[in-house]
Amino acid sequence: MKTTSITMKRQYNPMKGKTYIENCGNDEAEEEPPGKTVISDLEEEPPGKTATNRHRFFRDIPDSTWSDWKWQFWNRITTIDELTKFIPLSPEERDQIRLVTKKYPLSITPYYLSLINLDDPDDPLRKQAIPSILEITIGMMGQEDPLAEKRDSVVPGLVHRYPDRILMLLTNICPMLCRHCTRKREWRNGGWVHTSGEVEAMLDYIRQHKAIRDVIISGGDPLTLSTQRLENIVSKIRRIQHVEIIRIGTRFPVVLPQRIDNELCTMLSRYGPIWLNTQFNHYREITPEAAAACDRLLRSGVPVSNQSVLLRGVNDTMETQMKLCHGLLRIKVRPYYLFQCDEVQGTEHLRTPVEVGVKIIEGMRGYTSGLAVPTFVIDLPQGAGKVPLQPNYLVAQTEEELVLKNYQGRIFYYRNPEAQAYPELTSDAGLLDETELQFEVEGAQDADRVILRS
Ligand code: SF4
Repeated sequence: MKTTSITMKRQYNPMKGKTYIENCGNDEAEEEPPGKTVISDLEEEPPGKTATNRHRFFRDIPDSTWSDWKWQFWNRITTIDELTKFIPLSPEERDQIRLVTKKYPLSITPYYLSLINLDDPDDPLRKQAIPSILEITIGMMGQEDPLAEKRDSVVPGLVHRYPDRILMLLTNICPMLCRHCTRKREWRNGGWVHTSGEVEAMLDYIRQHKAIRDVIISGGDPLTLSTQRLENIVSKIRRIQHVEIIRIGTRFPVVLPQRIDNELCTMLSRYGPIWLNTQFNHYREITPEAAAACDRLLRSGVPVSNQSVLLRGVNDTMETQMKLCHGLLRIKVRPYYLFQCDEVQGTEHLRTPVEVGVKIIEGMRGYTSGLAVPTFVIDLPQGAGKVPLQPNYLVAQTEEELVLKNYQGRIFYYRNPEAQAYPELTSDAGLLDETELQFEVEGAQDADRVILRS
């Protein structure tokens, strides 16, 4: 495959008013920082570890430029013509993608593109980044706003659904447009960032509602904003007495980890407790760059959790999820949620039957540590909240006894302590039914020694 030098372009400026001088990729080889090795042969790359396409397509880009998040951001691949420089597409595929991008645009960072196996049409990373005709051919299934965020919007950009938590959307811009995104509806009409006046209105609302103890800043991706702008907002939130924690939802550690630089981490460390939720969906996304980004956050006192989305052909097997979750633990990121893909228009081809998620959890629970097993949840339509789904381990129960199935499918009796001190458990609306237990099962004699796993 021939080497392609990428061309630079100007797009929406996330740095708000700052001029960024783009590196045009013409740097000479001697600009490589001394001591660094240029890997020119694909074979030399450790499989699954480093970005294989970086030296295939971006060999003229020195490390210092490649590591510059602003360079990565400015040089996103956003048109079909750019995409065809990197990926073999038939004329028919090109026409299809052109059609899809009229409704659902395209944006991929050079970094994320470099992780994709571009010769494999079924590559799990490709499915997350490159448009599919299925987004519009079965696009009428699902809803534009399945979580009813517009309905629950109290001022522009603020979604207030639970008394103690609030969702703050600062922008609709993301470095990569994930094909499964719940907020695909926001991709229309170009990029926007809420103005200072709009952000002040959001802050006023939070100031006036004293029950709010948890502010979730999400997206679009909030880390698209400059660190300075972000600090301006985060510092004002931190000054609100009743706000206890700030959470940031971002996919930057996965799609553009270079953004998690020292400047950002130092700033975040000043306004803790700040928690960060990201979205690794496949173990190949856990690269040295991503690991270093998470490490920088952790060292700055920002705990990092993962909320992956269950996607057809991407991570819908137990083996893939196990590798993903083990990889996350190795970089000290907690596998927190595994989301059933929301019922969003344009994502039906990536959705899996709910049973797939339950089976995956069943296959993990007991076979790896509980820390590695995320909670599988459905985010209910109409903003009705998250429902965790588990394999059913409870076979039957009375007030005195439970019959439980362990992770190997073996059945055990478990003696239930007295419920008298808990009247709510024995009322009509209580949790216990009066079913007679009549089980003659193997392993029942071990009931007293069963350890319930959590
Ligand atoms: S980063 Fe999140 S909000 Fe942005 S496109 Fe991806 S899934 Fe959607």
